[in-house]
Amino acid sequence: MKIKLFEDVTNILNEANIQDLINDSKATDPRRIKLSQSIYTEYKGVDSDGTLLFESDSQTRQDMIHKQRIFYEGFFDLLDKVEEHEAITDEDVVNILTGDLYLDCSCESHLYWAWAYKSWKDDYGLRKELRVPERNNIKLSESTCKHCISVLELINRSNSLLDQIAIDLNTLFQNYKKKTNNEKNSN
Ligand SMILES: [Zn+2]
Repeated sequence: MKIKLFEDVTNILNEANIQDLINDSKATDPRRIKLSQSIYTEYKGVDSDGTLLFESDSQTRQDMIHKQRIFYEGFFDLLDKVEEHEAITDEDVVNILTGDLYLDCSCESHLYWAWAYKSWKDDYGLRKELRVPERNNIKLSESTCKHCISVLELINRSNSLLDQIAIDLNTLFQNYKKKTNNEKNSN
């Protein structure tokens, strides 16, 4: 399966997709874009809720890794399709990857530079964080930490990663489908 993403994205979204977040970071935070480019980031798979899991090395502490989580809003549309016993195609899966997403990172910066708060407030955060920043980044500038930028850039540029994510999500949907069918048959 060859995936061609981001070539013909005509719908501009209200919340935030990968391109929105990368563009915002490029415009407001070029230094962090630069820092993100030397981070090693790895895709670790999809959990049972459909959240994509990533790990990045910490540039400041050698023995430390940070965990990033990304969830795509379009995931729910495909679950609806599964419930209605419609086929999930590869194209369906690819389409959700260009849509709005929610993200989180386990690093200190994501919380202390108010991006956890901002992302939740602006509807692209995966972690509920309601504490208004009182000292750091009270103007809520920039979008996210360098690890999340690294993850977004990785998804954006790697066709083989997109293939892998599509395969993993499809496997998850097929499992849901089997489970739904079994529950229906046993009732
Ligand atoms: Zn981070």
